Amino acid sequence: MSTESTRGRESEIESLLRDDLRGQSPYGAPQLDVPVQLNTNENAYAIPEDVAAVVAEFIGRELRGLNRYPDRDAVALRTDLASYLGHGLTADHVWAANGSNEILQQLLQAFGGPGRTVLGFMPSYSMHPLLARGTGTAFVDAGREADYTLSPAYVREAVVEHDPDLVFLVSPNNPTGTALDADVIDAAYEAARGIVIVDEAYAEFARDPRSTALNRLEGRRRLVVTRTMSKAFAFAGARVGYLAADPELVEKLLLVRLPYHLSSITQAAARGALACAPQLQAEVDELKHQRDRIVKNLRAKGLPVADSDANFVLVGGLRDAAAVWRAILDQGVLIRDVGLPGRLRITAGTEEETTAVLDAFDTAMEQRPELFDSATELQQEQQP
Ligand SMILES: *Cc1c(COP(=O)(O)O)cnc(C)c1O
Repeated sequence: MSTESTRGRESEIESLLRDDLRGQSPYGAPQLDVPVQLNTNENAYAIPEDVAAVVAEFIGRELRGLNRYPDRDAVALRTDLASYLGHGLTADHVWAANGSNEILQQLLQAFGGPGRTVLGFMPSYSMHPLLARGTGTAFVDAGREADYTLSPAYVREAVVEHDPDLVFLVSPNNPTGTALDADVIDAAYEAARGIVIVDEAYAEFARDPRSTALNRLEGRRRLVVTRTMSKAFAFAGARVGYLAADPELVEKLLLVRLPYHLSSITQAAARGALACAPQLQAEVDELKHQRDRIVKNLRAKGLPVADSDANFVLVGGLRDAAAVWRAILDQGVLIRDVGLPGRLRITAGTEEETTAVLDAFDTAMEQRPELFDSATELQQEQQP
């Protein structure tokens, strides 16, 4: 087959594609093979041996029954998730899927879709606009305040202006790292007539664990809190996400889910990991420690860093972020250029990995000072 005819076929396929998908590119964080990978906010720790043994035992019990479809409604898993979340939640308040990405997609399928809009505040999670596009929901970006924060007044005004069917809030926000105050969530909820989603993928890493929007669920039937096992549970490869919301809203998601969407093996693996939540929380505590170490160390170098409630840190003060990213990569450390001028995102790693990225910054600042804002500029940026 000649390249010519292949290309001809491709363009024919392109012409058959939905109009709103033509010319678009898929999600893709660079996956480079370097020694220290601190670019996708994964949990730096492998699953501990004793936890792996428990997960294997839970999975093992399912194997003989794989001739049967899984529990469509994942009731046992939802019961375990509800008791993990606490706040008086039961299985009826919880829904689970293949990653919180699938949870978000189902919410958009049920409450968004063609002719409807979802409001977001970028820079934030890059998948939100892509999930909106995939479900034919119009994504409206209200942006953020100059320092990338959100105040109740700013959020209220944006909701009133755009009157969306859904609102995406992210707390702690990715890529900035800071959690939202409860009054921001309340302001969005009170101004909106539609569904308000708080994406809490990093909730377990918050400096104040009581800051979760789960506190706001009672009496707010349009509020949804989404969570994931990808980060705190070191379970990104297993694909397990979930939400907490009003039971009636949860019931509506059954209208759009694929039958048997969550495999017996996934459900069992998740239940095994949940049974080991305390062991896994110990690693979260260690990652929080490394995160705080990055914040302190970069601030001591004079670089402005936002407070972080997540397992990553957004660093500023870079005159040429792309060149700094490259200078760090040249030392074998991959971090993330999220496309924000003068800023890069660094995931907290193990103690050794964290040392490696901090050393790489030292070296870059020493050898290439022109890539960083000058000392006087940095001092001004540090002023509150
Ligand atoms: C990592 C992340 C997720 C996780 O998605 P999964 O599909 O559960 O792996 C969700 N939301 C945000 C903001 C994230 O950063």
